[in-house]
Amino acid sequence: MTDDEYTEWDAAYVLGALSVTERRQFERHVSGCRSCRQSVSELAPLPALLAAAPAPAVRAAAPADAAASDLPSFAALADRVRDGRRKSRMLLAAAAVGLILLGGAAGYGVTLGLRTPAVVAAGESVRLDPVGNSGVRADLSLTGEPWGTRLDWSCSYPPGIAPDHDYDDADRDYELAVVDATGIRTVVATWKSDGGPRTTGLSAATSTPLDEISRIELSAASGILLAVAPR
Ligand SMILES: [Zn+2]
Repeated sequence: MTDDEYTEWDAAYVLGALSVTERRQFERHVSGCRSCRQSVSELAPLPALLAAAPAPAVRAAAPADAAASDLPSFAALADRVRDGRRKSRMLLAAAAVGLILLGGAAGYGVTLGLRTPAVVAAGESVRLDPVGNSGVRADLSLTGEPWGTRLDWSCSYPPGIAPDHDYDDADRDYELAVVDATGIRTVVATWKSDGGPRTTGLSAATSTPLDEISRIELSAASGILLAVAPR
């Protein structure tokens, strides 16, 4: 489909710039749209990259009306973005992406982890970074086996519920899924948090060979994507 009205929402979503209503609308769409899901997972590292960008560059990406104050934190930038109308949000998201690309040229090696699969050697660990402001992270180790891939991980949750992320107590069921190179998504595990900050000792197995895993997704049971690792 070429007339997907959500194709440009990905960056704003990842940057936490959508309103709660828009976020919900987009997440509903993403749960059924592979191309948007892929865009979101490709852009997932963006907030972390932005946070690591040098302050003057971030300030330059902020709207002209930004007081020349000490605002370069990503949270402040996101608030400012959120205040704007959607169009300026999109422009700013585009500027942020441009900033990252420039940053990459200047030596922030990560860059187009956005568009090219990262390479993870067998048995190496993989970090799942939060999507939007979910605050959920996971550290996985993947081990190639003759029968497929073994996964071991721990998962940490934000202290309390992230203020602008609409998943709640009813969503404290989580699932881990692997997506193979052809886009087939397989849920390999489900678990519950006990309300504590961290769950450890989780493990699962999948018949998908290690070198065919292109993405790993951690979602709430309701389908909301919380953390992702592009590979
Ligand atoms: Zn879509």
